Amino acid sequence: MAPNLKTIGTYLLNVLLPRTCVHCALDLHYLEGQPLCPGCRGSLEPIPKPCCAVCGLPLDDGGRDCYDCRGAAPRALKLARSAFVFNAQLRSAVHAFKYRGRRDLSGFLAREMTLALDRYPELDAYNFSAAVPLHPARLRRRGFNQAELLARGLGARGNIFYLEGAAVRTRDTKSQTTLSKEERRVNMTGAFGVVKPELVKGRNILLVDDVATTLATLESLAAELKKAGARNVAAFTLAREP
Ligand SMILES: [Zn+2]
Ligand SMILES: [Zn+2]
Repeated sequence: MAPNLKTIGTYLLNVLLPRTCVHCALDLHYLEGQPLCPGCRGSLEPIPKPCCAVCGLPLDDGGRDCYDCRGAAPRALKLARSAFVFNAQLRSAVHAFKYRGRRDLSGFLAREMTLALDRYPELDAYNFSAAVPLHPARLRRRGFNQAELLARGLGARGNIFYLEGAAVRTRDTKSQTTLSKEERRVNMTGAFGVVKPELVKGRNILLVDDVATTLATLESLAAELKKAGARNVAAFTLAREP
């Protein structure tokens, strides 16, 4: 078979920019088109089951809900699930994707998310997706919204219709990495607004993001979507950090 233009393009790109595994730096063959070498890809860890029926965290004690979700007040976010544990290999891939301009990683990561979605039939009813929006200032710095690329990739493969621009970020919230759970909740309150309520009304919406930690960001956005008339809101992220 004659090599097509895309293959030639990929080859040329790799002659100019040799590809190595984003985690262990092993040299990769140009035709593989994968950001992780087979060993590192095989090290991606699906979220172990059983997991909390609400927040999706792995459970040690075999109950239905985790300690935090048991008896908690109802949340706007009906349930949350993630594809993988945020381990070292996935961390390297997400870091390259978000902070080193490797926009091309979105295809690989969205494909992994699509495969993982099969493990969660409880998300089957969610036929529409929305990405966690970035503040315009951050979007300008990064050049793309990683959550949007993942949501679009998931939509293309998983028959989930992407609702473009349904919500916006109204505040450029500070980084959450050093904040406590309660501080994160306060930090995210009122951070989003729904600008196209007609897109969300009466629909079951899957919020897509790269990494979830306390779910404060997703809960804040889910609350706005519910106020705008969404029927149910769930979240699906690439990675989960307890
Ligand atoms: Zn590797
Ligand atoms: Zn839980």
